[in-house]
Amino acid sequence: MTPVEAYQSQILAAIRALPPVQLALPDAEGCMLAEDVTAAADLPSFDNSGMDGYAVLAADTEGASAQAPVALPVTGEIAAGDTGSFGLRPGTAMRIMTGARMPAGADSVIPVELTDGGSTRVLIRRAVRRGNSVRYSGEDASQGEVLLPAGTRLKPMHIAVAASAGRGTVLVRPRPRVVALSTGNELTEPGTPLVPGRIWDSNSYMIAAAAREAGAIAFRHAIVPDDPAGVLPALEEQLKRADLLVTTGGVSMGGEHDVVKAALSSLGTVTFLKVAMQPGMPQGFGTVGDDQVPIFTLPGNPVSAYVSFQLFVRPALGALQGDNAGHLPAVRARLAGPVRSPAGRRSYLRGVLSEDKTQVTPLSGQGSHQIAALGKANALIVVPEETQSLADGVAADVLVLP
Ligand code: AMP
Ligand code: MG
Repeated sequence: MTPVEAYQSQILAAIRALPPVQLALPDAEGCMLAEDVTAAADLPSFDNSGMDGYAVLAADTEGASAQAPVALPVTGEIAAGDTGSFGLRPGTAMRIMTGARMPAGADSVIPVELTDGGSTRVLIRRAVRRGNSVRYSGEDASQGEVLLPAGTRLKPMHIAVAASAGRGTVLVRPRPRVVALSTGNELTEPGTPLVPGRIWDSNSYMIAAAAREAGAIAFRHAIVPDDPAGVLPALEEQLKRADLLVTTGGVSMGGEHDVVKAALSSLGTVTFLKVAMQPGMPQGFGTVGDDQVPIFTLPGNPVSAYVSFQLFVRPALGALQGDNAGHLPAVRARLAGPVRSPAGRRSYLRGVLSEDKTQVTPLSGQGSHQIAALGKANALIVVPEETQSLADGVAADVLVLP
């Protein structure tokens, strides 16, 4: 059996990041930046007022107090966005708004709250220091400074930074396009009636949703029956639109209905192997088609498929986006109950991690078909290959689910 890390490394060695593309800012949100974004000009690009108030010389406010206000004539008004060139004469004030350019000759702003708000003459009730409420050119960033380094995952504040740097488009890794496809004669479309012996397909919906959560644009393929003649054409058709394919089902260890394995074995580029883990032992990975599209063939049991996605497909989706942070975050937490695990295989048991991430409670219902129990989990408790049980109260490695 192949150890989990060895299999993860094999997968990542076969994945190349998608070529970067220029995207308009709204489309770039959530993508990985593939260039440094630098400041086109100083930020702010001109000295401006930080408050609504009056532009003055600080020296002209000396000695001002509520009891003995200083009176200055108001010679004009500057609003945010005004582009004219204004000048202030000593011994006068100009009304100024937040974000408006400072007039030449002024060194301070008196907030309107410290005045009587006068329009031809203003009474100033407090002295201010030079530079009061002035936002200086370049105080946030200097022209040419790297504001967003390549490799930044663009969150809303980064979109704002790029926009403030004057960028309408940015070079990013595109979101990978993922197609999720379930195989199985037993599968029925959710929302339609069930006959005994059949189950509703949950895997394709789950994988598409998990892929989206991992930054992909995901499509779900209609259910594919266990027909070797149908599986391969369905996959080949999807190669045209996918950067990564995920199938579930049809890869167990030797059933004659294992059509995914049968279909892909003919291509010779997909390796089927046993990974030393539970759930999710039977795995398949390779690249197919002229474009060498990565394909994962996950086991059919829903919990196996989910855990396999998080351990193997998620890091691969990260790598396609040039992001090596695709692995689930790990913490150490105290077990709030005993757990068991088969010898020689690493278990990923479903658990509930406390808010402060110090305690994890194993869920009952650890079968790989028990999707209801998975629905209660927010973490996977890791039990090493050589360990067959862990007692209540001991510390364990825990993977935090997205
Ligand atoms: P397989 O890997 O095809 O042998 O399937 C293993 C188990 O997973 C069987 O009990 C299947 O019925 C179940 N299973 C397979 N595909 C799905 C699916 N798309 N949704 C829910 N359960 C599935
Ligand atoms: Mg099947």
